[in-house]
Amino acid sequence: MLLITDLEKTYPGPNGGFTAVRGMSFAVQDGEMFTIVGPSGAGKTTLLRCVAGLSAPTAGTISIDGVPIDGPPREFAVVFQDYARSLMPWMSVAKNVELPLVKHGSDARSRRRAVEQALAEVGLADAAHKKPFQLSGGMQQRVAIARAIAYRPKVLIMDEPFASVDAQTRADLEDLLLKVREETGTTIVFVTHDVDESVYLSDRVAIVTRSPSRIDRIVSIPLPHP
Ligand code: ADP
Ligand code: ADP
Repeated sequence: MLLITDLEKTYPGPNGGFTAVRGMSFAVQDGEMFTIVGPSGAGKTTLLRCVAGLSAPTAGTISIDGVPIDGPPREFAVVFQDYARSLMPWMSVAKNVELPLVKHGSDARSRRRAVEQALAEVGLADAAHKKPFQLSGGMQQRVAIARAIAYRPKVLIMDEPFASVDAQTRADLEDLLLKVREETGTTIVFVTHDVDESVYLSDRVAIVTRSPSRIDRIVSIPLPHP
């Protein structure tokens, strides 16, 4: 379980700085798809950066299975909106997906197997040897997803990952994400400003207010997912 307790983030500045997130608490169960929806500037990215260990909270704690996090945990993966800049352009798709596995010290055989499986899961088995720029935006974001899931993270953190693709690609990627989640059982924390998207993807939706951002309420989505 991912547990966020009384999280606060204040950016330094005049007059005591700017508090982007305040008093934020929630728990995400293992295997859950939890989305956070709120207007632009609400502090969603700030929240996710803290949860991912990329930014130190001013107050509060984040823990995974009872262990407080302190820096980016190995078992977390993050996918940002900006897929094009997150992929290494000079590396093949397979090499990009393999990168975190190399960092985690997996051996060559298991890396190969994991890359193959992740690419198959996102429907890109045939693109392994292409370069990212040879692919469409939607396909590049699939590569980013494959890279994130290849080492089987405990928690997949996604910040508006489909915000910069066209509507059809976005719908395809949403369905792909639901399928990946079904197949891998990964816990997903997903931030978006799009209410429709959050309802479509979620088990539960947390609605956040404008900065200082706090959770207004959490809604369970009763509809079965496709
Ligand atoms: P969202 O992702 O919901 O659009 P952000 O977390 O990006 O919101 O931003 C929330 C607020 O925090 C915004 O008003 C933004 O200007 C401010 N903010 C974000 N990053 C910083 C920073 N590094 N320094 C100061 N203020 C920041
Ligand atoms: P190189 O041939 O220089 O190793 P590749 O782009 O062919 O670079 O592969 C990078 C890594 O990704 C390989 O080391 C292997 O583990 C994995 N890999 C390569 N080709 C495939 C493929 N078709 N399907 C799945 N994984 C692959």
